[in-house]
Amino acid sequence: MANPSLLILAGDGIGPEVMAEVRKIIDWFGTKGTPFDVEEGLIGGCSYDVHGVPLSDATLERAQAVDAVLLGAVGGPKYDGVEYALRPEAGLLRIRKEMDLYANLRPAQCFEALADFSSLKHEIVSGLDIMIVRELTSGIYFGEPRGIQTDNEGGRVGINTQRYTTNEIRRVARSAFEMARRRGNRVCSMEKANVMESGVLWREEVTWIHQNEYPDVALSHMYADNGAMQLVRNPKQFDVIVTDNLFGDLLSDAAAMLTGSLGMLPSASLGAPMENGRPKALYEPVHGSAPDIAGQGKANPIACILSFAMALRYSFDMGEAATKLERAVETVLADGHRTADLMGEAGGTPISTSEMGDAILKALAA
Ligand code: NAD
Repeated sequence: MANPSLLILAGDGIGPEVMAEVRKIIDWFGTKGTPFDVEEGLIGGCSYDVHGVPLSDATLERAQAVDAVLLGAVGGPKYDGVEYALRPEAGLLRIRKEMDLYANLRPAQCFEALADFSSLKHEIVSGLDIMIVRELTSGIYFGEPRGIQTDNEGGRVGINTQRYTTNEIRRVARSAFEMARRRGNRVCSMEKANVMESGVLWREEVTWIHQNEYPDVALSHMYADNGAMQLVRNPKQFDVIVTDNLFGDLLSDAAAMLTGSLGMLPSASLGAPMENGRPKALYEPVHGSAPDIAGQGKANPIACILSFAMALRYSFDMGEAATKLERAVETVLADGHRTADLMGEAGGTPISTSEMGDAILKALAA
């Protein structure tokens, strides 16, 4: 059987720094009998510098061909004057769109050693492990008509349209139910069916998929405003949450912050299954290129490392290896290793990006 294949797009700023630590881990798996075929490419500002575009057609072609793409981060002040369509961020939007990555997975997991970093009480977040599945390619951010128009009285009107089709809802619902089967087997679907027709359709279609394809998974429904409240009141009641693009944008950011630092948050964006049965997939940390600390060895590589753990689990069916890697991160944090962003009020001496990577590797190999 062919080796699992990965395209690494480290990008700009701290992207290459955090990705270097992931490379150590990928290479370690190689020595333990799971070699990956790894290609590297350019995205964002570094691609613009070389090719004049933030994502070349050739790189996009490679992204479509491999089993999974692992991305660092893009952007930086150097590109502030570049026209919008050629900015680093446009490369990111293009790759997500062209790969049709409609399901955005944002886990919110609280590592015990960092529970006091949360703005919520320790007992509310301790042991937290939820997954938000956000629809990423449709809804109000894309619906037509849109724009700013002038009405009959000469006043201005801002218009956006929330629009969802049966197919768009069903495919992201399937992603959520599949996810639940790998976890706690529960899905909570969130919309505003009380005031929005698109919410009524959302609820009906999620229910249809549940009844016809995933009756073994427990499904509940919640209005998204109540969902926001419940996320800060008692987040541990949830396993998988599935919701639309707009509500998912808000709810996933709120849930992420339950767990503390931006340097800890991984994500995955998944699309339709490929010929080999694996979903099209792109894994990336939630954070950006952090120009304020780039090149200083201060970046926390954990978000990128945990994104690779998600790739192991969701693209390569290596759930055990993913858990082992996550446990290694947990061990290192429990042992008190901290990059600068995790120092908190207690103070102490932070370790560097590569020291954190080395510590995780050591815990993995132990
Ligand atoms: P950012 O996430 O890059 O940084 C926000 C703050 O968090 C900074 O103080 C930074 O130092 C810190 N931080 C982020 N990641 C960290 C890590 N791994 N370890 C330690 N500290 C970390 O967001 P920003 O400053 O708003 O944006 C900077 C650039 O990144 C912009 O060009 C923006 O467009 C781009 N951006 C890219 C992505 C992406 O590639 N997915 C996402 C967000 C922003």
